[in-house]
Amino acid sequence: MNVFPRRLKILVLMLCALVELSSAQAPPPSSTYLKCGWLLDGKSDQLQKDVIVVIDGENIQPIGAAGASQVPASQVVDLSRETCLPGLIDTHTHILLQGDITAADYDEQLLKQSPEYRTILATVNARRALMYGFTTIRDLETEGAGYADVDVKKAINNGVIPGPRMQVATRAMDVTGAYPLQGYAPNVVVPHGVQIVDGVEDGRKAVREQISHGADWIKVYSDRTYSVRPDGVLDDIPTFTIDELRAIVDEAHRERHKVASHAMAIHGVHNSVAAGVDSIEHGNYIADDDLKTMASQGIFYVPTIFVGDYVARGRAATGATVWLQMMSIHEDTFRRALKAGVKIAFGTDAGGFDWKIDPAKEFADMVKFGMTPGQAIRAATSSAAELLDMQDKVGTIVAGKFADIVAVPGDPLKDVTVLEQVDFVMKGGVIYKKP
Ligand SMILES: [Zn+2]
Repeated sequence: MNVFPRRLKILVLMLCALVELSSAQAPPPSSTYLKCGWLLDGKSDQLQKDVIVVIDGENIQPIGAAGASQVPASQVVDLSRETCLPGLIDTHTHILLQGDITAADYDEQLLKQSPEYRTILATVNARRALMYGFTTIRDLETEGAGYADVDVKKAINNGVIPGPRMQVATRAMDVTGAYPLQGYAPNVVVPHGVQIVDGVEDGRKAVREQISHGADWIKVYSDRTYSVRPDGVLDDIPTFTIDELRAIVDEAHRERHKVASHAMAIHGVHNSVAAGVDSIEHGNYIADDDLKTMASQGIFYVPTIFVGDYVARGRAATGATVWLQMMSIHEDTFRRALKAGVKIAFGTDAGGFDWKIDPAKEFADMVKFGMTPGQAIRAATSSAAELLDMQDKVGTIVAGKFADIVAVPGDPLKDVTVLEQVDFVMKGGVIYKKP
């Protein structure tokens, strides 16, 4: 039965024709125009003045494709007093941690908080990361919260909660007796912050297991127990044997996944580099020969400077004064790595410090240790994208890539700390924060 009166039907048809006519003249309603006072596209260190970035759906359109005069005001975002730059990338985070200066802080999270509660906190941290301007993160293990990172990533990708694009490492690996929780009576069963793996076959099996449950990256802890030698070199006890590390790396690469290695000192770094990992995390001390190998093989260095400074004072207060000496050793290593031409990606270890602190503080430390602001910004954009194999999707403001764009009220090439004041955040064409 036709319930529409004839006259109403004609009216509806006329309205439809009108809508069609107007939409043919106006740009598609999904287009957004960012009127940037200055643009740092991530390819060069030169600011471009007065640029309009056109976004259609979730992608960037060819720069300068539309004249500003034809653009309807409702679709323009006025950032004329701001510098636009690619969304920032933090390649070393822990959204399931809330800061752990001392062993007691860490133990309490694993002993007194359920994985479910920790996951709720993680969703808040993911949102914080995005609001700080980090539109992509590599989250380097859940610290005892199993595969919760895979679910947070899924919830973000499904549009359930706001957060950055994520690559996740799930449980990470270390050997028996090397990773907290430690020091409890032998008859007390305690949780561990990693999957305990001993032996070559165990290593391969753990890689298969973690990848099957959603790991994008495999994370290994390659050293522990640090001390400064009389010659100033940072010493350590390696965890895995070189054979174990080689098997883990081989299995991960065979399955086309990359390996990140926590390696802070001489032996851990050397074994990791020899085993062919893809990134060295922290690297407080790296021998010159290993820097040379890293440069020639394209192994990334993710220095995480800020967290070292942040935890040093707390850990020194509990007697571990080695953490204070590590800062100057770290600076020397960073400067040698720069000179050796090692690829450096921005990573902070956020979660190792409280998420209420903006991880962008790392930029100032990188500049203090010898990078130009432009180099530090590229470490957090195009270089980080390369480490994540996402260089065709993010890391520069170029046509066809995801519209992941942030803006700051100043010139980050003059004062890199302005990156701690990100006041505009767009991810995949969706605006999450506006000045
Ligand atoms: Zn970490």
